[in-house]
Parts: sequence; C-alpha cells; structure tokens
Amino acid sequence: MKNYYDVLGVAKSATEEEIKSAFRKLAHKLHPDKKGGDEKKFKELSEAYSVLSDKKKRAEYDTYGKTFAGGAGPQQGGFGGFDFSNFSAGGGPSFGGQQFEFDLGDIFGDVFGGGQTRTRRGRDISIDIELSFRESVFGAERRVLLSKTSVCDTCAGSGAKKGSKLITCSNCNGKGEIRESRNSFFGTFTSARPCSRCHGKGQIPETPCDACRGEGVRKRQEEIHIVVPSGVEDGEMIRMPGRGEAATGATAGDLYVKLHVKTDAKFSRDGNNLITSLPIKLSDALLGGEYRVSTLDGDETLTVEPGIAHGEVLRVRGKGVPHGRARGDLLVRVDIEFPKKLSKHARELIEQLRSEGL
Ligand SMILES: [Zn+2]
Ligand SMILES: [Zn+2]
Repeated sequence: MKNYYDVLGVAKSATEEEIKSAFRKLAHKLHPDKKGGDEKKFKELSEAYSVLSDKKKRAEYDTYGKTFAGGAGPQQGGFGGFDFSNFSAGGGPSFGGQQFEFDLGDIFGDVFGGGQTRTRRGRDISIDIELSFRESVFGAERRVLLSKTSVCDTCAGSGAKKGSKLITCSNCNGKGEIRESRNSFFGTFTSARPCSRCHGKGQIPETPCDACRGEGVRKRQEEIHIVVPSGVEDGEMIRMPGRGEAATGATAGDLYVKLHVKTDAKFSRDGNNLITSLPIKLSDALLGGEYRVSTLDGDETLTVEPGIAHGEVLRVRGKGVPHGRARGDLLVRVDIEFPKKLSKHARELIEQLRSEGL
C-alpha cells in the first residue's frame, strides 16, 4: 500500500490546511469525470485524504501504519449510485446510510460545476446605509437605487411578449429537467438539473419578451424602499428576503442592509435607555436647582435636589428608545462642575463654609 503522505505529496508534518489544499489540487486533476482524470489514482487519493484529514485516524496511521476507526475511505463502502444534486454547502452526502468522512460538497463543488447541481438562487446583495443617532432610535426610511438583475418590468417575469402563448419546451420535452447518468468509481449516478432553456418550467413563450429576451429578468435600476425599525444598533443587519438579485427560474437572493449609526455628541445608548450627562454648578448641587435637559423629544425641566452627588443618575421616564409600545428612559448623569479657580470673594465664602464644618 502506498504511503498516504506520498499520495498527497505532502510532508509528514503537513498541517490540516496543507493536506486539504493538496487534496483539492489533486482531486481536480485526477477526478475521473475530468479530462485526463485517473480513477485508480483518484481512489488512492480519496483514501489517503479520508485518513489524513481526520485527526484520530491520522494519529493511528502515524503510529501503526493503518487505521482502526472504521472505513478508511469510499472504496470500502460499496456505494450505490447517488444523486449529486443532494450536495449542499454543509455536511457531506451519505451513501447508503454511511456518512462520507469529509465534506465532498466542499471539495467537489466546483469539480461538478457547483451551482448547476445545487438549488438555483439569485445572488444575495449587501449594502451599507448610514443613520444618524436619532434615526437609529426612532427608525428611518431610505429609498435606494440599486443596479441589479431584477424581474423584468416589461413582461413581469414571464419572459413572454405580450399576447404570446406558451409552447412546450423542445429541449426537455416539457419535463422541465434534464437527467444525466455518469459513471464514476462510486457507481453510476444520475443527476437531474433544471432545463436551461425553459428553466425548469417545461414551457417557453412562443414569442419572447423583447426587453429581457425571454429571460424574465434583466439588469436594471430598481428603487428599493428600506424601512429601518426603531431601536437599531450600529452594525446591525436588516435582511430583506427576495430583494437581492433575481435569477431566471429561481428564487431571488436576499438583500442585506448593514446599518452604520453615527455617534452623537450628547446621547449614547444602553439597551432601551438613552444616556446623557448634565453639568450642574456646585452651588446647585448643595442648594438644589432647576435645569433644562435636552431629550430626543425636546427639552425637559429637571429638578436637582439639594445635596445631589456627582455621578448620580436622574431618570426621565419614557424618553428612551421605543420598543414595542413602550419606551425606555433617559438616564441623566449629574456632573458637578467644581470651580478650577476661586475669586478672592468666593474663597472667603468657602472658608466660612469650612469654619461651619462642611
Ligand atoms: Zn421581459
Ligand atoms: Zn425545457
């Protein structure tokens, strides 16, 4: 039996990443479905990779020159035919109940032409929008002009010229899908892919729409109305299902709107509460007083009780962040301004205070 490390062409000290990368490179070269592929070598390669990509098996192999942890690779399983359209981004396909030892979809996605065998779907788009602090609290609306593949506005996505009737697609005989059988070392497998002519519908318009040439979608400018709810935070993402790129005969992708909230000089946020600070004079801290404090809803009068402490928090109820039908509070942190310099007179007065024992 060949040394697994030699098969992959890596050193015994190779990292997981190096092993994966070596496998990927060779798998592309040797895959039996590829021109110049080599089924025997590909088998060896898969076996080597299924062991060396698994920490436990690799350790066993390094110590004993073989593995004990179950099947060493695909050649032991006796796999029947399987459908590559089952490939999805996560998890490997299973063969007669046995899970493959590595994520085939991940490795072979592009060998098999990726997208074709997977569920077709329009691309997701992401955009960024900037909000003022106030908008992040109360919500906002934006109209954004996006240049993207959208449903054709001339034929409303049907792909048919107005008044044209639908006829059976000759490419797939109206079945909507094309089935293909391929031989590989796994056995014969059949894959079905949507017909590229009718995009799985089985019917095509007799006269296609001029604007989109029968595709039902076309690149155009589309205005998107974005409603930002109240109480969003910086970095938050709004997902708008179906507002990404449209694709013929497939679900449209999603639009992701990433929110950037500008900081505010006066206000900051703590959950549903807003926070601000209120500078007050030392004399008011001792004797009490009335202050005007800004809220996001306009100014409010706030009474400062005599003897208030520096850093004490006053609460203005219901002037915080809206959530549901309720609203958080505005928390006003008292900031006593101690005079840096005293006039001669002020100094005398404070000294009198001192003589009072204060
Ligand atoms: Zn059209
Ligand atoms: Zn067709």
